[in-house]
Amino acid sequence: AGSFTEKGGAYDWSSEEEEPVARAEPVQVLVVKDDHSFELDEAALSRILLSEAVRDREVVAISVAGAFRKGKSFLMDFMLRYMYNLGSEEWLGVPDEPLTGFSWRGGSERETTGIQIWNEVFLVDKPDGRKVAVLLMDTQGTFDSQSTLRDSATVFALSTMISSMQVYNISQNVQEDDLQHLQLFTEYGRLAMEETFLKPFQSMIFLVRDWSFPYEFPYGQDGGMRFLEKRLKISENQHEELQNVRKHIHSCFTNISCFLLPHPGLKVATNPNFDGRLKEIDGEFIRNLKVLVPWLLSPQNLDVKEINGNNITCRGLVEYFKAYIKIYQG
Ligand code: GDP
Ligand code: MG
Repeated sequence: AGSFTEKGGAYDWSSEEEEPVARAEPVQVLVVKDDHSFELDEAALSRILLSEAVRDREVVAISVAGAFRKGKSFLMDFMLRYMYNLGSEEWLGVPDEPLTGFSWRGGSERETTGIQIWNEVFLVDKPDGRKVAVLLMDTQGTFDSQSTLRDSATVFALSTMISSMQVYNISQNVQEDDLQHLQLFTEYGRLAMEETFLKPFQSMIFLVRDWSFPYEFPYGQDGGMRFLEKRLKISENQHEELQNVRKHIHSCFTNISCFLLPHPGLKVATNPNFDGRLKEIDGEFIRNLKVLVPWLLSPQNLDVKEINGNNITCRGLVEYFKAYIKIYQG
Protein backbone atom coordinates (compact mmCIF):
# COMPACT_ATOMS: atom_id res chain seq x y z
CA ALA A 1 0.00 0.00 0.00
CA GLY A 2 0.98 3.64 -0.25
CA SER A 3 1.84 5.74 -3.20
CA PHE A 4 4.00 4.60 -6.05
CA THR A 5 6.83 7.03 -5.37
CA GLU A 6 7.04 9.97 -3.05
CA LYS A 7 6.83 12.48 -5.83
CA GLY A 8 4.53 10.68 -8.21
CA GLY A 9 0.83 10.80 -7.82
CA ALA A 10 -0.69 8.49 -10.36
CA TYR A 11 -0.68 5.37 -8.27
CA ASP A 12 -2.65 5.70 -5.13
CA TRP A 13 -3.07 2.22 -3.75
CA SER A 14 -5.53 3.01 -1.00
CA SER A 15 -6.31 -0.62 -0.25
CA GLU A 16 -4.10 -2.48 2.18
CA GLU A 17 -4.15 -5.62 0.07
CA GLU A 18 -1.28 -6.68 -2.13
CA GLU A 19 -1.54 -4.82 -5.39
CA PRO A 20 0.49 -5.60 -8.45
CA VAL A 21 3.44 -3.25 -8.66
CA ALA A 22 2.58 -0.66 -11.27
CA ARG A 23 5.32 -0.04 -13.71
CA ALA A 24 6.12 3.48 -14.76
CA GLU A 25 6.01 3.41 -18.54
CA PRO A 26 4.74 5.25 -21.60
CA VAL A 27 1.16 4.47 -22.56
CA GLN A 28 -0.15 5.01 -26.07
CA VAL A 29 -3.36 7.00 -25.65
CA LEU A 30 -3.87 8.13 -29.23
CA VAL A 31 -3.26 5.97 -32.27
CA VAL A 32 -3.53 6.89 -35.92
CA LYS A 33 -4.54 3.73 -37.71
CA ASP A 34 -3.58 2.60 -41.20
CA ASP A 35 -6.86 3.87 -42.62
CA HIS A 36 -5.98 7.31 -41.14
CA SER A 37 -8.69 7.14 -38.51
CA PHE A 38 -7.96 8.13 -34.92
CA GLU A 39 -8.51 6.11 -31.82
CA LEU A 40 -8.36 7.45 -28.28
CA ASP A 41 -7.78 4.93 -25.51
CA GLU A 42 -10.15 6.52 -23.03
CA ALA A 43 -9.68 3.80 -20.44
CA ALA A 44 -5.92 4.28 -20.37
CA LEU A 45 -6.27 8.04 -20.28
CA SER A 46 -8.72 7.80 -17.40
CA ARG A 47 -6.58 5.36 -15.44
CA ILE A 48 -3.77 7.89 -15.50
CA LEU A 49 -5.55 11.22 -15.17
CA LEU A 50 -8.53 10.27 -13.02
CA SER A 51 -6.60 8.57 -10.24
CA GLU A 52 -7.62 10.01 -6.91
CA ALA A 53 -4.32 11.70 -6.17
CA VAL A 54 -4.28 13.83 -9.31
CA ARG A 55 -7.74 14.24 -10.81
CA ASP A 56 -8.65 17.49 -9.06
CA ARG A 57 -5.19 19.02 -9.37
CA GLU A 58 -4.49 21.71 -11.91
CA VAL A 59 -2.47 20.20 -14.71
CA VAL A 60 0.73 21.23 -16.44
CA ALA A 61 0.95 19.32 -19.71
CA ILE A 62 4.28 19.21 -21.51
CA SER A 63 4.45 17.89 -25.05
CA VAL A 64 7.31 17.31 -27.47
CA ALA A 65 6.41 17.17 -31.16
CA GLY A 66 8.09 17.19 -34.55
CA ALA A 67 9.30 14.86 -37.28
CA PHE A 68 10.44 11.36 -36.34
CA ARG A 69 14.03 10.30 -35.57
CA LYS A 70 15.07 13.72 -34.36
CA GLY A 71 15.68 12.85 -30.73
CA LYS A 72 12.32 13.69 -29.14
CA SER A 73 12.03 10.56 -27.01
CA PHE A 74 15.71 10.79 -26.10
CA LEU A 75 15.09 14.28 -24.73
CA MET A 76 11.92 13.14 -22.97
CA ASP A 77 13.92 10.55 -21.07
CA PHE A 78 16.13 13.28 -19.67
CA MET A 79 13.01 15.20 -18.73
CA LEU A 80 11.86 12.11 -16.82
CA ARG A 81 15.19 11.91 -15.01
CA TYR A 82 14.74 15.51 -13.96
CA MET A 83 11.21 14.89 -12.69
CA TYR A 84 12.23 11.78 -10.75
CA ASN A 85 15.13 13.65 -9.13
CA LEU A 86 13.46 17.01 -8.66
CA GLY A 87 15.44 19.24 -6.34
CA SER A 88 18.70 17.35 -6.77
CA GLU A 89 21.72 18.96 -8.40
CA GLU A 90 22.67 15.49 -9.64
CA TRP A 91 19.44 14.84 -11.51
CA LEU A 92 21.26 13.96 -14.71
CA GLY A 93 22.57 10.74 -13.16
CA VAL A 94 25.82 8.79 -13.33
CA PRO A 95 28.04 8.41 -16.43
CA ASP A 96 27.39 4.68 -16.95
CA GLU A 97 23.66 4.42 -16.59
CA PRO A 98 21.70 3.55 -19.76
CA LEU A 99 18.85 5.90 -20.57
CA THR A 100 15.35 4.51 -20.15
CA GLY A 101 11.79 5.74 -20.37
CA PHE A 102 10.05 6.54 -23.62
CA SER A 103 11.38 4.24 -26.29
CA TRP A 104 13.98 5.88 -28.42
CA ARG A 105 16.22 4.15 -30.86
CA GLY A 106 18.42 4.44 -33.86
CA GLY A 107 17.56 3.30 -37.34
CA SER A 108 15.12 4.82 -39.73
CA GLU A 109 12.10 2.55 -39.36
CA ARG A 110 9.00 4.45 -38.49
CA GLU A 111 6.83 3.85 -35.44
CA THR A 112 3.12 4.30 -34.76
CA THR A 113 1.87 7.82 -35.29
CA GLY A 114 0.12 9.10 -32.20
CA ILE A 115 0.52 10.32 -28.64
CA GLN A 116 2.07 8.53 -25.68
CA ILE A 117 1.87 9.78 -22.11
CA TRP A 118 3.97 8.80 -19.14
CA ASN A 119 1.67 6.86 -16.84
CA GLU A 120 3.01 8.51 -13.74
CA VAL A 121 1.78 12.05 -13.20
CA PHE A 122 4.17 14.08 -11.03
CA LEU A 123 2.87 16.19 -8.20
CA VAL A 124 5.02 19.29 -7.82
CA ASP A 125 4.92 22.13 -5.31
CA LYS A 126 5.32 25.47 -6.99
CA PRO A 127 7.11 28.26 -5.07
CA ASP A 128 3.77 30.08 -4.71
CA GLY A 129 2.42 27.16 -2.67
CA ARG A 130 0.26 25.59 -5.35
CA LYS A 131 0.54 21.86 -5.96
CA VAL A 132 0.24 20.99 -9.63
CA ALA A 133 0.14 17.75 -11.60
CA VAL A 134 2.73 17.44 -14.36
CA LEU A 135 1.97 15.28 -17.38
CA LEU A 136 4.63 14.38 -19.95
CA MET A 137 3.57 13.63 -23.52
CA ASP A 138 5.61 12.24 -26.37
CA THR A 139 4.24 12.37 -29.90
CA GLN A 140 5.13 10.52 -33.04
CA GLY A 141 4.57 12.00 -36.45
CA THR A 142 6.12 11.28 -39.80
CA PHE A 143 5.78 14.44 -41.93
CA ASP A 144 6.97 12.42 -44.92
CA SER A 145 4.15 12.26 -47.46
CA GLN A 146 0.90 14.06 -48.10
CA SER A 147 -1.25 11.31 -46.62
CA THR A 148 0.73 11.05 -43.42
CA LEU A 149 1.22 14.82 -43.21
CA ARG A 150 -2.47 15.12 -42.47
CA ASP A 151 -2.15 12.51 -39.69
CA SER A 152 0.85 14.29 -38.29
CA ALA A 153 -0.96 17.61 -38.47
CA THR A 154 -3.77 16.19 -36.38
CA VAL A 155 -1.42 14.69 -33.82
CA PHE A 156 0.46 17.95 -33.62
CA ALA A 157 -2.76 19.95 -33.36
CA LEU A 158 -4.21 17.73 -30.63
CA SER A 159 -1.02 17.73 -28.60
CA THR A 160 -0.82 21.52 -28.91
CA MET A 161 -4.46 21.89 -27.86
CA ILE A 162 -4.10 19.80 -24.73
CA SER A 163 -0.63 20.94 -23.63
CA SER A 164 0.40 24.05 -21.77
CA MET A 165 3.82 23.87 -23.39
CA GLN A 166 4.58 22.47 -26.80
CA VAL A 167 8.24 21.81 -27.60
CA TYR A 168 8.64 21.85 -31.38
CA ASN A 169 11.68 19.69 -31.97
CA ILE A 170 13.46 20.53 -35.20
CA SER A 171 16.75 19.58 -36.73
CA GLN A 172 19.60 21.98 -37.46
CA ASN A 173 17.72 25.13 -38.31
CA VAL A 174 14.29 26.77 -38.43
CA GLN A 175 13.45 26.47 -42.09
CA GLU A 176 10.57 27.92 -44.02
CA ASP A 177 8.88 24.53 -44.27
CA ASP A 178 9.13 24.07 -40.47
CA LEU A 179 7.18 27.32 -40.15
CA GLN A 180 4.70 26.28 -42.85
CA HIS A 181 4.12 22.98 -41.07
CA LEU A 182 3.55 24.82 -37.82
CA GLN A 183 1.04 27.07 -39.54
CA LEU A 184 -0.81 24.11 -41.02
CA PHE A 185 -0.81 22.21 -37.71
CA THR A 186 -1.98 25.10 -35.59
CA GLU A 187 -4.63 25.98 -38.17
CA TYR A 188 -5.98 22.44 -37.74
CA GLY A 189 -6.10 23.08 -34.02
CA ARG A 190 -7.58 26.52 -34.15
CA LEU A 191 -10.43 25.47 -36.42
CA ALA A 192 -11.45 22.87 -33.87
CA MET A 193 -11.59 25.31 -30.99
CA GLU A 194 -14.12 27.88 -29.91
CA GLU A 195 -13.52 31.38 -31.19
CA THR A 196 -12.29 33.64 -28.44
CA PHE A 197 -10.42 36.88 -28.26
CA LEU A 198 -7.65 35.04 -26.41
CA LYS A 199 -4.76 33.40 -28.17
CA PRO A 200 -5.69 29.73 -28.54
CA PHE A 201 -2.43 28.20 -27.33
CA GLN A 202 0.06 28.81 -24.56
CA SER A 203 3.81 28.27 -24.89
CA MET A 204 5.67 27.24 -28.00
CA ILE A 205 9.33 26.39 -27.69
CA PHE A 206 11.34 25.96 -30.86
CA LEU A 207 14.02 23.46 -29.91
CA VAL A 208 16.72 23.38 -32.56
CA ARG A 209 18.83 20.21 -32.41
CA ASP A 210 22.35 19.91 -33.84
CA TRP A 211 22.72 23.69 -34.00
CA SER A 212 26.02 24.31 -35.74
CA PHE A 213 26.41 28.07 -35.89
CA PRO A 214 27.18 28.96 -32.26
CA TYR A 215 29.55 31.67 -33.48
CA GLU A 216 26.52 33.47 -34.97
CA PHE A 217 23.97 32.67 -32.27
CA PRO A 218 25.30 30.94 -29.14
CA TYR A 219 23.72 27.74 -27.76
CA GLY A 220 20.97 28.15 -25.24
CA GLN A 221 17.99 30.37 -24.75
CA ASP A 222 19.41 33.85 -25.31
CA GLY A 223 21.02 32.87 -28.58
CA GLY A 224 17.82 31.04 -29.47
CA MET A 225 15.64 34.06 -28.81
CA ARG A 226 17.80 36.34 -30.93
CA PHE A 227 17.90 33.75 -33.70
CA LEU A 228 14.15 33.23 -33.61
CA GLU A 229 13.40 36.94 -33.57
CA LYS A 230 15.31 37.20 -36.79
CA ARG A 231 13.53 34.20 -38.35
CA LEU A 232 10.06 35.32 -37.30
CA LYS A 233 10.53 38.97 -38.16
CA ILE A 234 7.89 40.43 -40.41
CA SER A 235 9.03 43.03 -42.89
CA GLU A 236 7.39 45.03 -45.66
CA ASN A 237 9.52 43.66 -48.46
CA GLN A 238 8.87 40.02 -47.56
CA HIS A 239 6.59 37.98 -49.79
CA GLU A 240 3.02 38.09 -48.48
CA GLU A 241 3.05 34.35 -47.86
CA LEU A 242 6.09 34.63 -45.59
CA GLN A 243 4.47 37.51 -43.73
CA ASN A 244 1.26 35.52 -43.24
CA VAL A 245 3.01 32.48 -41.80
CA ARG A 246 4.73 34.70 -39.27
CA LYS A 247 1.59 36.62 -38.33
CA HIS A 248 -0.28 33.38 -37.90
CA ILE A 249 2.35 31.92 -35.54
CA HIS A 250 2.46 35.10 -33.46
CA SER A 251 -1.33 35.11 -33.20
CA CYS A 252 -1.55 31.52 -31.95
CA PHE A 253 0.76 31.44 -28.93
CA THR A 254 0.96 33.48 -25.75
CA ASN A 255 4.69 32.77 -25.39
CA ILE A 256 7.16 31.86 -28.09
CA SER A 257 10.76 31.02 -27.32
CA CYS A 258 13.67 29.09 -28.72
CA PHE A 259 16.63 27.06 -27.49
CA LEU A 260 19.67 26.09 -29.57
CA LEU A 261 21.08 22.70 -28.62
CA PRO A 262 24.45 21.41 -29.90
CA HIS A 263 24.99 18.06 -31.63
CA PRO A 264 25.26 15.23 -29.05
CA GLY A 265 28.21 13.57 -30.79
CA LEU A 266 28.65 10.75 -33.26
CA LYS A 267 28.08 7.91 -30.79
CA VAL A 268 24.57 9.19 -30.14
CA ALA A 269 23.80 9.83 -33.77
CA THR A 270 25.34 6.79 -35.43
CA ASN A 271 26.30 3.95 -33.05
CA PRO A 272 23.57 1.27 -33.11
CA ASN A 273 24.70 -0.05 -29.70
CA PHE A 274 24.53 3.30 -27.95
CA ASP A 275 22.26 2.94 -24.93
CA GLY A 276 22.09 6.52 -23.77
CA ARG A 277 24.85 6.55 -21.16
CA LEU A 278 26.16 10.01 -20.38
CA LYS A 279 29.82 9.23 -20.83
CA GLU A 280 29.27 8.70 -24.53
CA ILE A 281 27.49 12.00 -25.05
CA ASP A 282 29.41 15.18 -25.94
CA GLY A 283 30.15 17.45 -22.98
CA GLU A 284 28.83 20.52 -24.76
CA PHE A 285 25.47 18.78 -25.26
CA ILE A 286 25.31 17.77 -21.61
CA ARG A 287 26.16 21.27 -20.42
CA ASN A 288 23.30 22.64 -22.46
CA LEU A 289 20.93 19.87 -21.41
CA LYS A 290 21.59 20.92 -17.81
CA VAL A 291 20.29 24.37 -18.73
CA LEU A 292 17.47 23.31 -21.04
CA VAL A 293 15.65 20.78 -18.89
CA PRO A 294 15.38 22.92 -15.71
CA TRP A 295 14.41 25.87 -17.90
CA LEU A 296 11.49 23.79 -19.19
CA LEU A 297 10.52 21.98 -16.00
CA SER A 298 11.66 23.73 -12.83
CA PRO A 299 8.71 24.28 -10.49
CA GLN A 300 8.66 28.07 -10.90
CA ASN A 301 8.51 27.71 -14.69
CA LEU A 302 5.59 25.27 -14.82
CA ASP A 303 2.46 26.88 -16.25
CA VAL A 304 -0.94 25.37 -15.62
CA LYS A 305 -2.97 24.50 -18.70
CA GLU A 306 -5.54 27.16 -19.54
CA ILE A 307 -8.43 26.92 -21.95
CA ASN A 308 -10.39 30.11 -22.65
CA GLY A 309 -8.72 31.69 -19.65
CA ASN A 310 -9.68 28.94 -17.18
CA ASN A 311 -7.22 26.72 -15.34
CA ILE A 312 -7.73 23.07 -16.22
CA THR A 313 -7.49 20.07 -13.88
CA CYS A 314 -6.51 16.54 -14.89
CA ARG A 315 -10.19 15.66 -14.94
CA GLY A 316 -10.95 18.62 -17.19
CA LEU A 317 -8.15 17.66 -19.53
CA VAL A 318 -9.71 14.23 -20.11
CA GLU A 319 -12.97 15.89 -21.09
CA TYR A 320 -11.26 18.27 -23.51
CA PHE A 321 -9.25 15.45 -25.01
CA LYS A 322 -12.44 13.49 -25.67
CA ALA A 323 -14.21 16.51 -27.13
CA TYR A 324 -11.34 17.48 -29.40
CA ILE A 325 -10.81 14.00 -30.78
CA LYS A 326 -14.50 13.84 -31.77
CA ILE A 327 -14.00 16.80 -34.03
CA TYR A 328 -11.29 15.02 -35.96
CA GLN A 329 -13.21 11.79 -36.08
CA GLY A 330 -16.05 13.92 -37.56
P1 GDP B 1 12.24 10.54 -32.11
O1 GDP B 1 11.70 9.68 -33.20
O2 GDP B 1 12.19 12.02 -32.50
O3 GDP B 1 11.60 10.28 -30.79
O4 GDP B 1 13.80 10.22 -32.00
P2 GDP B 1 14.57 9.29 -30.92
O5 GDP B 1 14.59 9.96 -29.58
O6 GDP B 1 14.02 7.91 -31.00
O7 GDP B 1 16.05 9.34 -31.48
C1 GDP B 1 16.38 8.90 -32.79
C2 GDP B 1 17.88 8.78 -32.96
O8 GDP B 1 18.49 10.07 -32.86
C3 GDP B 1 18.56 7.92 -31.89
O9 GDP B 1 19.52 7.12 -32.53
C4 GDP B 1 19.24 8.91 -30.96
O10 GDP B 1 20.40 8.38 -30.39
C5 GDP B 1 19.56 10.05 -31.89
N1 GDP B 1 19.56 11.39 -31.26
C6 GDP B 1 19.03 11.76 -30.06
N2 GDP B 1 19.21 13.07 -29.84
C7 GDP B 1 19.88 13.55 -30.93
C8 GDP B 1 20.35 14.87 -31.30
O11 GDP B 1 20.18 15.88 -30.60
N3 GDP B 1 21.01 14.92 -32.51
C9 GDP B 1 21.21 13.85 -33.31
N4 GDP B 1 21.87 14.03 -34.47
N5 GDP B 1 20.77 12.62 -32.99
C10 GDP B 1 20.10 12.48 -31.83
MG1 MG C 1 10.08 8.93 -30.34
